[in-house]
Amino acid sequence: MMAEKTEASKNVEPVRLDPSFKAEVMKEHGGETLKTCFQCGTCTSSCPTARFSDAYRPRTILRMAQLGIRQRILTSPTIWLCTACFTCDDRCPQGVEVASVLRILRNLAVKGGQIPQIYTELASNIYETGYAYKIPEMRHRKRTELGLPPLPKPSLDKVARLIDLAGGSKLIKSKGV
Ligand code: SF4
Ligand code: SF4
Repeated sequence: MMAEKTEASKNVEPVRLDPSFKAEVMKEHGGETLKTCFQCGTCTSSCPTARFSDAYRPRTILRMAQLGIRQRILTSPTIWLCTACFTCDDRCPQGVEVASVLRILRNLAVKGGQIPQIYTELASNIYETGYAYKIPEMRHRKRTELGLPPLPKPSLDKVARLIDLAGGSKLIKSKGV
């Protein structure tokens, strides 16, 4: 006899699987290692970010990528928590390039227009000034007063070209930053 659905389970949105997602991740550099993850959890237990965030579990993200849970991964804020410290890569017994997989997932998220506002702001600052942070005039004056040399002048046309090539300028404009 089939078990009846509880009220709670009726309200749960079913997970949509995309069978092509794993292949999409694996065709990118570093992504091909995704297939060898056997879910030991060493990455999560070594990850400094996971130590401070219960929501961040690289092992779970990798499993979701293997299963093709595209939408949930790419819209999740957790993929942006990786600091690319590579501790997981150093410790993974299967040689999975976890940090690369995370980078690929973020890139796919960006392609789909999913990016936290803070990153578009940082990109916009770099585009306009060459620095991630818009340095106020007062700071420049303070440097002079303290006898410090002026900050290096970034080559803005080269910076803009790099951001254009990476598709960043379109994203910055579309987000109206
Ligand atoms: S340490 Fe490697 S094999 Fe183990 S769960 Fe993480 S990625 Fe998978
Ligand atoms: S690279 Fe990312 S996932 Fe790996 S240990 Fe560092 S923060 Fe965690």
